Amino acid sequence: MRAEIIEKLRRVVGKDAVVADETELLVYECDALAIFKHKPDAVVFPQTAEQVSGIVKIACEYGLPFLPRGAGTGLSGGAMAAEGGIIIEMQKMNRILSIDTENRIAVVQPGVVNLNITQTTAPLGLYYAPDPSSQQACTIGGNVAENAGGPHCLKYGMTTNHILAIEVVLANGEIVRLGNPAGEAIGMDLVGTIVGSEGTFVIVTEITIRLLPKPQAVKTLLAAYHSVEACSQTVSDIIGAGIVPAALEFVDDKTIHAVEASVFKAGYSLDARAALLIELDGFQDGIEEMSAAISEICRKNQAYEVRVAKKRPGAGAAVARSEGSVRSHGPRESGHDRDGRRHSPHAPARCAARSRPAI
Ligand SMILES: Cc1cc2nc3c(=O)[nH]c(=O)nc-3n(C[C@H](O)[C@H](O)[C@H](O)COP(=O)(O)OP(=O)(O)OC[C@H]3O[C@@H](n4cnc5c(N)ncnc54)[C@H](O)[C@@H]3O)c2cc1C
Repeated sequence: MRAEIIEKLRRVVGKDAVVADETELLVYECDALAIFKHKPDAVVFPQTAEQVSGIVKIACEYGLPFLPRGAGTGLSGGAMAAEGGIIIEMQKMNRILSIDTENRIAVVQPGVVNLNITQTTAPLGLYYAPDPSSQQACTIGGNVAENAGGPHCLKYGMTTNHILAIEVVLANGEIVRLGNPAGEAIGMDLVGTIVGSEGTFVIVTEITIRLLPKPQAVKTLLAAYHSVEACSQTVSDIIGAGIVPAALEFVDDKTIHAVEASVFKAGYSLDARAALLIELDGFQDGIEEMSAAISEICRKNQAYEVRVAKKRPGAGAAVARSEGSVRSHGPRESGHDRDGRRHSPHAPARCAARSRPAI
């Protein structure tokens, strides 16, 4: 990239917030879809919406392609600079700006890691429901772009159901606000258009999210089967009975064997052809009845074992152990150092996989 452009970018974000070194750029040549690679010409680390706008205006001036990037855990190649140009890395915009407990909303910057929201709001009795398996590493901006989902989205809906308002930078550098932090917006649902647009419409620079109250009671069941069909039928029968669990995770035998042979050994029965993890949540009153009804449905579908599983801390589903306690994991590792830059190309995928032994 021409020195003149690098210089202009540095004037917007500061000298140390532009990476143009050929070796350092290698780290940004792909996301978690590592079969496709292309190096950007520069990676820039803005800290404000105004800086994002400034970068976009420079890209427009020189006719350069540009794209936002969160943690690079995307599996669709969306954060790869297919035609070179500028990657706008959002990791330094990683602050939770406000938490409104009364209205159960929070305003966050796009580089906040998904799990950090729940960890921060848990002492207030709140949590953020969408829980992709990569939640220890992926950013809320990336979640918005991908309309990310996770086990709890069965009951609570995908990312799009939890985004109330956003601030975005348009392709010409203009900064606009969309949606209504107080609830439903009148008129065209522009926030809904942008959630899931995979970084192609705008760069999201601020997000108002919905928080949910932590449920009074949580119970997780593990059902083991000798047949994949019987396990699958149980899912249909549970939903058909009008019960919507907080999460339903189907685990096949290959996965069970892989987990049990690994350091993430969780206590699955090796005889099982398939297993179902069923997480129930709600008020204390009624949870046992719901659990009994589901156990009955599992048994009717020839589950040879139905038992209570222990819930993994900080994750949407549960792993069951025949003995001992459930393994918990330490603080997140995102593959980024304190400077916000990535130092290992595929660290997010590794650390996310480590946190979810059941998949
Ligand atoms: C082990 C593993 C497990 C996963 N499990 C799940 C899962 O359960 N559910 C699920 O839905 N996904 C899952 N994913 C995919 C991925 O984690 C999600 O798509 C996540 O939302 C990507 O977030 P990110 O911060 O890594 O975004 P990136 O990969 O950096 O970017 C993804 C897309 O978002 C765009 N983008 C990033 N930031 C912004 C922004 N501020 N404004 C506009 N666009 C932006 C990028 O341009 C790109 O198109 C998994 C990935 C891995 C590696």
